[in-house]
Amino acid sequence: MDSKNTLNVPESSLPRLVIIGGGFAGITLIKALNKNDFQIVLIDQNNYHTFQPLLYQVATGGLEPDSIAYPLRKYVKRFGNLFFRLAEVQQLLPEKKQLITSHGTLKYDYLVVATGARTNYFGNTNLECYTMGMKSVPEALNLRSLILQNLEQAIVTKDPLKRQALMNFVIIGGGPTGVELAGALAELKRFVFKEEYHDLKMDDMQVFLIEGSPKLVGGMSEKSSKRTLGFLKKLGVQVFLNCRINDYDGHKVEIENGTPIPSENVIWAAGIKAAPVAGMEQAATGHGGRLLTDEYSCVKGFENCFAVGDVALMEGDIHYPKGHPQVAPVAIQQAELLAKNLSRLVHQKTLKPFRYTDKGSMATIGRKKAVVDVTGMFFSGTFAWFVWLFVHLMSIVGFKNRLATLLQWFSNYINFNSALRLIIRPYQPKQ
Ligand SMILES: Cc1cc2nc3c(=O)[nH]c(=O)nc-3n(C[C@H](O)[C@H](O)[C@H](O)COP(=O)(O)OP(=O)(O)OC[C@H]3O[C@@H](n4cnc5c(N)ncnc54)[C@H](O)[C@@H]3O)c2cc1C
Repeated sequence: MDSKNTLNVPESSLPRLVIIGGGFAGITLIKALNKNDFQIVLIDQNNYHTFQPLLYQVATGGLEPDSIAYPLRKYVKRFGNLFFRLAEVQQLLPEKKQLITSHGTLKYDYLVVATGARTNYFGNTNLECYTMGMKSVPEALNLRSLILQNLEQAIVTKDPLKRQALMNFVIIGGGPTGVELAGALAELKRFVFKEEYHDLKMDDMQVFLIEGSPKLVGGMSEKSSKRTLGFLKKLGVQVFLNCRINDYDGHKVEIENGTPIPSENVIWAAGIKAAPVAGMEQAATGHGGRLLTDEYSCVKGFENCFAVGDVALMEGDIHYPKGHPQVAPVAIQQAELLAKNLSRLVHQKTLKPFRYTDKGSMATIGRKKAVVDVTGMFFSGTFAWFVWLFVHLMSIVGFKNRLATLLQWFSNYINFNSALRLIIRPYQPKQ
């Protein structure tokens, strides 16, 4: 046993491939890799995979967290040379081909960085400190608690200004996440809170969606964007386009050229930046700090080091000169090809370059409306919503999770009365 190997991974005659990150890219790699070619070690700071597209449903009490999280150990149970270690990778020492983690060091022969992205506050420390992010299950649960606690507080406060601030929900960022969250909150107000908080004047609850650009769901078609705006307005969401946030002090949102909005519930859904590990500072990066890779996912200037998914910005695809979108299908497709290319590499075969197949994009607004862009076609409304439902259901990892989600959605669809509005762990402000 290597004395430096404090993660207790046994020695092997096979080359060691370490994957950092069990997100969409990481788990796809685990599934697609030829297990006879490598000893594989998956490292993640969580012991579960998170299905991020449905985090907003956890935050709004539509789904329980277990439905969108999947234990990473389930992937390793069938393979003797596949290991999982629960650890945070803190430093990469590329010249030694070694990783320093929260539980020790580990040498690698090949490394795949699949660490995804984190919330980008663009250097505004107030926004970072006082707004709520939604990038992980704990953050989504924290948001759920905040929403419920603030409504409880609104009931008991005697100060009408404070009450209004507690009942104003401001979502910053009109991408799919912001739109989906705004729709879900507006429907909660209409169908659930009005009944359950009958001693609060629920008409006073306001949902604001603030977007800096001229359109919502920017990556989608003009038709989708317009229809999304129409759906949200119908639900009573106040949408501000071309509107920038100057600051937020925890009580009042300062907007450019506009009246400040008093609010104790501000959700930041306006940007992400890549999350490479420390030690990669000398790597070339592109927009959003993404690691530049070639068409084979090799990180430029690093030996036997690859990056896939949100953390990477691949150059060379003429259809995506600014890089591929940071979405799950890109992470999955890159990982699928990399798995094959890694085997080709050890067998000294020619590698294949990556080409992205865009299968379309979609967003849901409330529980019976969605917009879908697929191969130049656009559709919206209830049919689009069923398509959204089906695609998301089939993408959730694990049969049990799929079944649980289907049952919860079915129950919510019929009576809109899920019992997930519990404050189990009270809201915890950021440190
Ligand atoms: C709220 C939200 C909604 C979204 N909705 C959609 C959608 O509808 N459709 C869509 O296609 N995409 C959506 N996305 C984007 C999609 O989730 C990402 O593109 C996808 O998760 C990227 O996969 P990944 O494997 O690169 O990274 P991730 O899935 O983010 O996984 C990264 C993994 O790395 C681990 N990790 C990070 N750093 C370390 C470290 N130092 N040490 C150990 N482990 C580490 C993390 O714990 C995590 O498990 C959404 C994202 C969010 C946040």
